[in-house]
Amino acid sequence: MLNFQSPIKNLRGVGETRAKQLSRLGITNVGELLRHFPRAYQHRGNVRLLSEVAEGEVAAFILTVRTQPVTKMVKNRMTITEFRAFDDSRSCNIVFFNQRYVGDIFGIGDTFRFWGKLTYDRGVPTLISPAYEPVREDRPLPEFVPIYRLTSGLTQKYLGGLAQAALERIDPAAYPRLLPERAYMEHRLCSPAEAYRFIHFPQNYAELERGRSYFVFEELYVFALGLTRAKRVRTTGDAPKLEPVDPREFLETLPFELTGAQKRVINEIYADMTSPTRKPMARLVSGDVGSGKTICAAAAVYIAVKNGYQASLMAPTEILAAQHYEDLSNLFSRMGITTALLTGSTKASEKKAIKEGLADGAIDFVIGTHALLTDDVEFKNPALVITDEQHRFGVVQRARLASKGRDLHVLVMSATPIPRTLAMILYGDLDISMVDELPPGRQKVGTYIVDESYRQRLNNFIAKNVAEGGQVYIVCPTIEEQEDEEFGGDELDEGLVIGEGGVVGFDFDGTRESERSPKLKSAAAYAEKLQKEVFPDLRVGLVHGKMRPAEKDSVMRQFAAGNIDILVSTTVIEVGINVPNASLMIVENAERFGLAQLHQLRGRVGRGVRKSYCVLVSDSKNEQSLQRLQVLRETSDGYKVAQADLDMRGPGDFFPRVGDTTRQHGELRFRFASLCGDMELLKSAFELASSCEPTKDALEAVRGLFDIEY
Ligand code: ADP
Ligand code: MG
Repeated sequence: MLNFQSPIKNLRGVGETRAKQLSRLGITNVGELLRHFPRAYQHRGNVRLLSEVAEGEVAAFILTVRTQPVTKMVKNRMTITEFRAFDDSRSCNIVFFNQRYVGDIFGIGDTFRFWGKLTYDRGVPTLISPAYEPVREDRPLPEFVPIYRLTSGLTQKYLGGLAQAALERIDPAAYPRLLPERAYMEHRLCSPAEAYRFIHFPQNYAELERGRSYFVFEELYVFALGLTRAKRVRTTGDAPKLEPVDPREFLETLPFELTGAQKRVINEIYADMTSPTRKPMARLVSGDVGSGKTICAAAAVYIAVKNGYQASLMAPTEILAAQHYEDLSNLFSRMGITTALLTGSTKASEKKAIKEGLADGAIDFVIGTHALLTDDVEFKNPALVITDEQHRFGVVQRARLASKGRDLHVLVMSATPIPRTLAMILYGDLDISMVDELPPGRQKVGTYIVDESYRQRLNNFIAKNVAEGGQVYIVCPTIEEQEDEEFGGDELDEGLVIGEGGVVGFDFDGTRESERSPKLKSAAAYAEKLQKEVFPDLRVGLVHGKMRPAEKDSVMRQFAAGNIDILVSTTVIEVGINVPNASLMIVENAERFGLAQLHQLRGRVGRGVRKSYCVLVSDSKNEQSLQRLQVLRETSDGYKVAQADLDMRGPGDFFPRVGDTTRQHGELRFRFASLCGDMELLKSAFELASSCEPTKDALEAVRGLFDIEY
């Protein structure tokens, strides 16, 4: 009998070579194999008649072999094996290339279920290299066939077979039981053993749903458990004792009046940090793009430093760290506070000096990237850590921070305006302050939704914008046309043309199938096309998440300096760089993005004096998607956008997304829960996490996910 820890080589058919290939997918044991979930399914249960399927459609057919397969040799020693088969409506040709062995599989009168794209060859319906399974009276064929993420050398058939073999040979008691017993009853969940079978090999849609529901809940629960335990760590404490300070110097040095919201938030921070209980502050500052969260953080730094302590600010990217430094170092120097910037590109000698300055107390405040500041920096007298999480929840690193620095005051800045109900759940470990008011005089960004038919006008608009001295962002949903090897190198993937019929209504990358139909614009190809064909006289730049950080930074810097007119990118620019001269934001395949994310992107423009615009391009025919986008036309209030997103799509979009992320330090990625449309489920997961004793398996999973010891 196998268990989750059994080496993958214990399965028949896995030798040295296969093991190596599998390890590239992160699969070294049976558990990892079973947690390599299908990314989609082919819906082969939807059997159609040849006569009702249009040319180019992918479908399943039940056909009976009419003629003996004949193999012919063609040029380059290639073989073609061909025969005819029929259903009640008509007959067709079935063709295989270089698979002469199929000649022995198909006998006259045998019936098979075929799956593939129907083409026409001189008027004759033809299936080229379709997938096939014999139809047998005694065993119904599964309606769904799993599609896995692959790596070169592995096929769907092989990986599916392996998962099947593992499921057959595993000890039923070996499945980890993560959920408290109550959960199974309350949510009518299947057992873990069933869940694994259903998710890999659902016989029908109901089973698929059962399996999926189980894993959604399991994921939410482990997440909730991790956060809940991180919070528990921090309930006692011995934070540095800070005395009240006179705020006049701080206020008088600012170049503007604080908004009412900023004043309120700063008072909340102030109360935490000077609290006689000496419980460390753990506070989230949430606010819309441009609401002025940085100044609130600066006030916290001021309090700490004026008390003789040090503070640090961690930003998710180098460029953001640099921007915070530019914003704050001048301001602070006028208050007698020494600020340093420490990032990967800081020169070695300078790095050394800064580290010394922090160790001996000469530097009061350091701004850096997450990685650098969590590494080996020593402070003489630290009191405050600020993390700028932008839109990705740095849940993991926050939990780690909490488990390490239990005596430090922690302030988290989040750029995603997030509805309070959800914030209280997701940031359950933090107190929440909302900067819910924008500084006066902010202009509205004109927002438009257009389809492909506007392309020419849109291009003219770009040209006009640049001619007037503005700069343009164009955001695309993917980097390359066909991303990764996971889509290639497999015969069955032929039939899985994304968005064509046959793939069931969702896939586990978190995108809804109904929204995948329009062809995706890829940043790399589009940038090239724009430069070569559309705007040869303008300067087109490209930046995406797979570039090295230094490369990325250099492009962003050029854009900020005005040396690039049009910046084509994936969503990496979302993380908050400030280019006041940029006045036009174009988002391609806008239907692919969450509303909160689009709002965030829109916040990249309208930061200067120029009248700014945001154009959402979508060729989606899906009414709901288009209606969703309308929300952005109707409001520029980030909280309203977020609430609409929550109401329409559930909390899934507020979880970290799978896709082109910069793979930031400590990012948490959900697989199933991003499909979760149910706030109640999330609430329930948190309720169970705080009220039930976790199982051993659950604690193990939390450690795996959060990488911390409790
Ligand atoms: P975010 O909340 O998106 O991080 P920032 O803190 O970067 O916003 O602030 C955005 C801009 O608004 C900055 O240029 C900042 O100097 C300015 N700002 C912040 N507060 C005020 C205010 N009370 N009045 C005028 N401008 C402000
Ligand atoms: Mg900011």
